[in-house]
Amino acid sequence: MRQFKAESKKRLDMMINSHYTHTEIFLRELISNASDALDKLYFRSLTDDKVGMARSDFAIRLSLDKENRLLRIEDNGIGMNEEELDKNLGVIAKSGSLEFKKENEKTEDVDVIGQFGVGFYSAFMVADEVTVESRAWGTDGAYRWQSKGAEGYTLSPCEKENAGTVITLHIKEDTDDEKYSEFLDENRLASLVKKYSDYIRYPIRLDMPTSRLKEGVDTSAEDYHYSPDDYETVYEEKTLNSMIPLWKKNKKEITKDEYSAFYKEKFFDYSDPAHVIHTKTEGSATFSALLFIPAHAPFNYYTKDYEKGLQLYSKGVLITEKCKELLPDYFSFVKGLVDSEDLSLNISREMLQHDHQLRLIARTLEKKIKSELLHLLENDRETYEKIYEAFGTQLKFGVYNDYGAHKDVLQDLLLFVSSHDGKLTSLKEYAARMPETQKAIYYACGETKEKIDMLPQAEAVKDRGYEILYCTEQVDEFALKMMMTYADKPFANVCADETDLSTDEEKEALKQQNKDAKAMFETMKTAIGDGVSEVRFTDKLKNHPVCLTSEGGVSLEMEKVLGQMPGNSAVKAKVALEINKDHPIAEKLKTADDETLGKYAKLLYAQARLIEGMSLDDPAEFSDLVCELMVK
Ligand code: ADP
Repeated sequence: MRQFKAESKKRLDMMINSHYTHTEIFLRELISNASDALDKLYFRSLTDDKVGMARSDFAIRLSLDKENRLLRIEDNGIGMNEEELDKNLGVIAKSGSLEFKKENEKTEDVDVIGQFGVGFYSAFMVADEVTVESRAWGTDGAYRWQSKGAEGYTLSPCEKENAGTVITLHIKEDTDDEKYSEFLDENRLASLVKKYSDYIRYPIRLDMPTSRLKEGVDTSAEDYHYSPDDYETVYEEKTLNSMIPLWKKNKKEITKDEYSAFYKEKFFDYSDPAHVIHTKTEGSATFSALLFIPAHAPFNYYTKDYEKGLQLYSKGVLITEKCKELLPDYFSFVKGLVDSEDLSLNISREMLQHDHQLRLIARTLEKKIKSELLHLLENDRETYEKIYEAFGTQLKFGVYNDYGAHKDVLQDLLLFVSSHDGKLTSLKEYAARMPETQKAIYYACGETKEKIDMLPQAEAVKDRGYEILYCTEQVDEFALKMMMTYADKPFANVCADETDLSTDEEKEALKQQNKDAKAMFETMKTAIGDGVSEVRFTDKLKNHPVCLTSEGGVSLEMEKVLGQMPGNSAVKAKVALEINKDHPIAEKLKTADDETLGKYAKLLYAQARLIEGMSLDDPAEFSDLVCELMVK
């Protein structure tokens, strides 16, 4: 018995005793090794006539002996001689992912295995005995390597007719917690090949069972009832993998339907994607990417359950199903895959370097996604608006999150409904339409466009010929506030004091009027109580008598939103009750006695709150006051 090299034993133990749930990746690893071995002999055949094999002769074969719990993986590739068997399979030091694990003891082995695999040794996750019989191409003898795990392995001559390698796994018995028998099931193996190794460039074959009518069964009678006994199971060799990755094909040869079918099958969507991005990048990071923007948000998209990520392939072999590092949160809706030449299956070996590689890919993708979206926005508005309808909220959160760090990337992708034509507009389009006199980009918040249109303040702004952006989603105002400005114009909430439309003379006149009515407003404020910081005249309302105006950053809409979040109930907007100085009610107030003035104040305040879509603290009192007025 030969011993594994120092260190290896400990590592092998980890593999054998791993309670990793994705033990299934062992198959991917062994098939990849087989594919590499085929590559080596195939390339040799190109220059060496002695090989005498054509491309179509190379294949990987899986076979089962269920009774003895054996799974075989066979290739007719380059093979290994005695020394290579000893060197390649006797040392686990090759596995960089384990190296990484050692340095970062806290890292769960689960993650390391899951992301990068561990090559040949992963076989020990599912097998209690592994036999490798191999004959190196161009040699006469074959050798058998055999191991039950950590104690060591034996190496002895054996018979083998052709060059290549056969790996035989004795699949572990099931325990209460862990099931292995699934790896003795043809359909399960077929689905694993489809999942992980579909694009291996050599056929992966397996005898698949199918049921067919036994010969000689007479079913001609009109009322014949078929019984299970009429059928027999036969085995037919099938090729499990499709071999050519769609993304490796020439773009021009791929139809829209092919993209759609691929997307729907791979990413479990029932509708066609809204947009497909298929790119090849060469340079500091060489990779192909096939990305899809869904036409609608997945049902769990805006929940914690949704996991972003792209499939990551290395030369056609799946490394990980969801590599989240490849997508920023604000593009988390993008589905698809990346296939990189630079990452080997043993990405783990130079993990840190590859991490850098991944970041490079991620950055390239982010730019690509952004430019594609912008292109759609400008050239295929209908598609863009469809995407925006599904994922616009996410883009707005993207502007708001991380303290606005990504606002420059995202601001041109945002759309808001504008009072210009009631349709979605980009900020760029809004800015282009602004008259020269316009000092700010105006927006207003409310539940619906219709409700916003009823805001007295909105009327005044529109009257000046300025557009209003309708903010009907909670995140809208937070995103705008995070951006602060666009094209050097500040954003201004029409219901806040930041909206200032008057000329200097008008301001001066108003100031005087407010001064004259100081005592009256004091009385009114006292009657209303804590609800308002001030009562005053305004010249910004045209037909409406009153409005509430927030001061100092927190708007009424934000108060509503923040109030719904736990721990934020203390955030209050500071508001002033403003009365239209030209409205008949202004005169009425000036002539009222103190008691009546107090009641009017309460009524006006209640009306202003109702207009804002807020509730009343004391609806009964409001109702009483209205009736009192009616019977007067
Ligand atoms: P890796 O594939 O990452 O190098 P493995 O532990 O999976 O690590 O395999 C170690 C080595 O054993 C391979 O590099 C290869 O040289 C050899 N090997 C494994 N499987 C085969 C095979 N089916 N045919 C020929 N050589 C193989």
